[in-house]
Amino acid sequence: MTTFDYDLFVIGGGSGGVRAARVAAATGAKVGLAEESRMGGTCVIRGCVPKKLMVFASGYREMFSDARAYGWDVEDGNFDWLPFRDRLHTELDRLEQIYRKLLNSSNVEIHDSRATLADAHSVRLADGKVVTAKHILVATGGHPVRPEMKYANLGMVSDDIFDMEALPKSILIVGGGYIACEFACILNGLGVKVTQYYRGAQILRGFDGEARGLVAESMRERGIDLHLGTNIVQMRPASDASGMEDANMGIPNEAIDEHVGAEAPQGPAPLWVKWTNGHEQVFDRVLFATGRTPNTKGLGLEDAGVTIGRRGEVEVDTFSQTSVPSIYAIGDVTNRVNLTPVAIREGMAFVETVFKGNPTPVDHDLIPSAVFTQPELGTIGLTEEEAREREPVDIYCTSFKPMMHAFAGRQDRVLMKLVVSKANRKILGCHIVADNAGEMIQLAGIAVKMGATKEDFDRTVAVHPTMAEELVTMRDPVRSA
Ligand code: NDP
Repeated sequence: MTTFDYDLFVIGGGSGGVRAARVAAATGAKVGLAEESRMGGTCVIRGCVPKKLMVFASGYREMFSDARAYGWDVEDGNFDWLPFRDRLHTELDRLEQIYRKLLNSSNVEIHDSRATLADAHSVRLADGKVVTAKHILVATGGHPVRPEMKYANLGMVSDDIFDMEALPKSILIVGGGYIACEFACILNGLGVKVTQYYRGAQILRGFDGEARGLVAESMRERGIDLHLGTNIVQMRPASDASGMEDANMGIPNEAIDEHVGAEAPQGPAPLWVKWTNGHEQVFDRVLFATGRTPNTKGLGLEDAGVTIGRRGEVEVDTFSQTSVPSIYAIGDVTNRVNLTPVAIREGMAFVETVFKGNPTPVDHDLIPSAVFTQPELGTIGLTEEEAREREPVDIYCTSFKPMMHAFAGRQDRVLMKLVVSKANRKILGCHIVADNAGEMIQLAGIAVKMGATKEDFDRTVAVHPTMAEELVTMRDPVRSA
């Protein structure tokens, strides 16, 4: 019988990999885990967690004026980035240590090293050492990508935000997805002049149409200069671009080619950009929030026989098994639903399947999620647009000024929307645009996941006075489709 160094070797110490390693080790399996960067991965170190702390920081700006409306004698304050950033990093260090402690106390052997596949049962560490494992779990996540254009390396990606030495006075954010919209709101809240270009007709493609519209309107009302149907077609250091409109700004092609791929210069050198419509503008910084791609390059996956998909993702079946039976993959590297809690679920299902003898497919149906814009967008299930393509639906929808904001004289509106099947009255989708919509959709999501009907919602007594009570008090559909 073949003996292996480990029962399980996990490549990647993000949320999914760490959870799978710990839960597998709890079954008595011998587990090793390699992480080349910091333990905790994208979510903890350069994603959800620092982002949410920045959301909190940015929310205070509006609170000063609200507080005055509520009778408090307060002045508008100024935001000081560096003390906040230092505190943020102290918190991230603390969380990273917690992740390490959890792995240690679960008896998972940590290798602070890059690891690549040597074959179906072996992993090569950065020092050349090869370890063998009965099962290998690839949980290497993804990374942000810049568009392919000259000087794109001078723009930031989301990873860079948390390390900025100073807040820029102005920033151009390119993209209309989660990351673009969240950082547009965060930076605007912190006092940065934010311009956002999105190439499509409306931000947040894939979300409910009315919800997208209200978020976009609210972002504009808060001062974000949002341009739709617009992209960046050229960029240069502003110092090279002054007054020059020709393609290369007088810089020889070879010099530009040399520059592309080079490291961005230190410090916020202003950047000149040209939009699709020929308009030119200079920004202190440019942030590319133009999507993320799976971390599969250079891992030895193809050589080991693992099939890689068109978008660079590891192809897996519903049990997260790759084309090589001993190798599994979870999380963003598989490009299924790129959310931390989904990666964790996939890790748990993997352990259930492989180490507990209980084959468990991953359930990707009806996943609630939130975009942490200001206001937030919480969503679960089908959008109105998707649902009406599938079956006849009734739409229940209300939009109103919440009590707290109306009193303070703010214009913000809240949207509560239910997409209901005409045939069986099940709630097919629920969409909320409101402060704390993320918290609300988590709870509404339980009912929707359980298959609640509109009448189940109606039988539930309202909690008064709240915003969420509107979810159970909408009597008549606003339309059928
Ligand atoms: P998304 O895929 O959501 O958005 C990318 C955006 O960039 C889209 O608007 C896309 O436009 C645009 N884009 C892509 N290529 C180009 C280009 N060459 N030029 C101009 N625009 C371009 O990616 P994000 O980076 O925002 O987020 C990645 C993933 O991370 C999300 O899908 C989500 O799963 C996860 N995430 C979740 C969060 C949460 O739960 N709150 C927060 C942050 C991230 P188009 O629509 O036309 O394709």
